[in-house]
Amino acid sequence: MIFPSTIAGSLPKPSWLAEPNKLWPQWRLQGDDLAAAKLDATLLAIKLQEDAGIDIVGDGEQSRQHFVHGFLEFVDGIDFAHKVEMGIRGDRYKAMVPVVKGELKLKGRVHQLEARHARAHTKRQLKITLPGPMTISDTVSDAHYGDKIKMAMAFAGLLNQEARALEADGIDVIQFDEPAFNVFMTEVQVWGIDALHKAIDGLKCTTAVHICYGYGIKANIDWKNSLGSEWTQYEKIFPALAKSRIGQVSLECINSRVPLKLLSLLDGKDLLVGVIDVANDTVETPEQVAGVIGEVMKFVPKERIVASTNCGMAPMHADIARAKLVALGAGAKLAREKYA
Ligand code: ZN
Repeated sequence: MIFPSTIAGSLPKPSWLAEPNKLWPQWRLQGDDLAAAKLDATLLAIKLQEDAGIDIVGDGEQSRQHFVHGFLEFVDGIDFAHKVEMGIRGDRYKAMVPVVKGELKLKGRVHQLEARHARAHTKRQLKITLPGPMTISDTVSDAHYGDKIKMAMAFAGLLNQEARALEADGIDVIQFDEPAFNVFMTEVQVWGIDALHKAIDGLKCTTAVHICYGYGIKANIDWKNSLGSEWTQYEKIFPALAKSRIGQVSLECINSRVPLKLLSLLDGKDLLVGVIDVANDTVETPEQVAGVIGEVMKFVPKERIVASTNCGMAPMHADIARAKLVALGAGAKLAREKYA
């Protein structure tokens, strides 16, 4: 089937699970109640995707507070009690980040519960996302390794441990989120791809990397407004990604100023093409979605195109995100009819 549909990763959490419309929401419950509610929300996320006609479904990241810290909570060697302020993403914004104080080790499984629960309740292909090693290293402060690359490689080893276990749980697609890739373009080529290769080592399932210009938060919108009419940062990293062993690349297309002709630099990769904007509340029409797919087809063979969202939808209003899921499913179907 051409143009299968999927999501970049996160979906809004129900208001009974966590505070809505926030990137760092507080949980509404605690202990066993919270653990059970996370799994209930995971089922709901899958049901909503299935009903919208999404082909490769995810857990909607319902079990994690934030896409990076949801992983870090399960890592030993990190001090969460004494966070420090650090400029992240090339000092685009400041965040309070935990500190690496000792050798990094997994405390146990990270996403086993939601992955197995999701696997037991859907027959569709199932995707789980993990933060990428470069993005993690840009979201913690280091007081132990003294070398960013060494620390990133240590995280890559832990990610690989969890990714292998997820594959054994029956996960079909494992995606690493690397928004830091278009901030540190030179480092991507020097060590970023190597770190990803360490994270996917030995996997037989489909692997993906999500790169992007960030969520629709103000710091990112201001930054994007400063980049001019054409965003060409990806030109520097696409050739290295094309040569990598990662199977799929996920990136934004609709309402983005990335010139689509750059996509031809990702020759040989499956592309998860963002056809749903997560930075505004206007719900796309199926015609718009199919239109973006048609534009991308000028540069990418159609059998390599997967219809997706530009980025995670976690901070959106739940009803708008649901309507956008429906538009995604319907738009991919329309594109299939139009371009088959
Ligand atoms: Zn993103």
